[in-house]
Amino acid sequence: MDLMKEKKLGFGCMRLPVLDPQDAVSFDFDAIEKLFDRFLELGMTYFDTAYTYHGYHCEEAVRKALVERHPRDSFQLATKLPLRDFKDAGDMEKIFREQLENCGVDYFDYYLLHNMGHNVYAKCETYGAFDFVKRMQREGKIRVAGMSFHDTPELLDEILTRYGDRLDFVQLQINYIDWEQPNVQSRRCLEVARKHGKPVTVMEPCKGGTLVNIPAEAERLMKGFAPERSPASWALRFAASQEGVFRVLSGMNAMDQVEDNCSALGEFRPLSEEENAVIDEVRKIIQANTAIPCTACEYCTHGCPKRIAIPQYFALYNSMKRKTGSFSSQNVYYNNTVLAGHGRASDCIKCGKCEQACPQHLTIRKYL
Ligand code: SF4
Ligand code: SF4
Repeated sequence: MDLMKEKKLGFGCMRLPVLDPQDAVSFDFDAIEKLFDRFLELGMTYFDTAYTYHGYHCEEAVRKALVERHPRDSFQLATKLPLRDFKDAGDMEKIFREQLENCGVDYFDYYLLHNMGHNVYAKCETYGAFDFVKRMQREGKIRVAGMSFHDTPELLDEILTRYGDRLDFVQLQINYIDWEQPNVQSRRCLEVARKHGKPVTVMEPCKGGTLVNIPAEAERLMKGFAPERSPASWALRFAASQEGVFRVLSGMNAMDQVEDNCSALGEFRPLSEEENAVIDEVRKIIQANTAIPCTACEYCTHGCPKRIAIPQYFALYNSMKRKTGSFSSQNVYYNNTVLAGHGRASDCIKCGKCEQACPQHLTIRKYL
């Protein structure tokens, strides 16, 4: 299969619509089905989920809203092996079978080792995860195998040198803010993937919404160039324009996002030199306005003994710093989150579990 000929846009299912914002599994199926149907109607086919998304229930939601309602050959499904929680090698087989059942399928079009970094890599080696994925592929249960990667270009190089023959593609965090950021290094990771001949899928092209709600000054620049285009469409096109990128995932939870994203990447045109110059200016403005570069992925909250709502607190802090809300409104949101059963930032006991899980390598304890 020539991956570079695939449709450029993928539906990221990490943030599906829910009925209660405090409850990750209160899926709004009516809304989800409409979004999925429209996405397919616009000619796109790729859906990306994971065992751990939405409190470990995202795969089931995708089965109900997509798999049980559309012919198997009308969409492509990707999910991921959650090595973070593994206790022994037998877990791989057990969880893989569970995933097929959760999703209601006989095979996965794409299957990834999830959240690869130093800790997960050590587990993959201990449990033989690269060989496991290859074996599932040989048995026809996986069509295309890959990994989602969140670490240094040096580690990526090491993994692809040793296990590149087991992986068909790599999923990387690429967006115009992280392009040269030392904690992500999008550009250098992409160069390493290309050196090893691995096509790349992009995650977090809008950096968890940071590049959707950009500072007014930055938005004015973009609108001045093309009034009809959204900041999100610029971010998607930036990611899709990079050499070696075959697909960009976007976590959509509203119909206007589906329409906008599909129109940005449906008839794809790479960014021109002039458009890249606009991005350079916008990047400078956003960097001067973002206090904590959190993507709201929520990987950190899973193991927190104090149930501290880390990404929510960071978003409140960022928006306070950006002056997009009054200080008192941030306080109200903060107190409501605590009332919903989450720990306060000051409840942190500095155990460090969150920092081990954070793909952005943020010094969470210090920020809290
Ligand atoms: S260091 Fe603090 S925020 Fe992080 S997991 Fe421990 S208690 Fe939670
Ligand atoms: S602090 Fe890190 S792990 Fe937690 S939501 Fe933000 S980026 Fe994700």
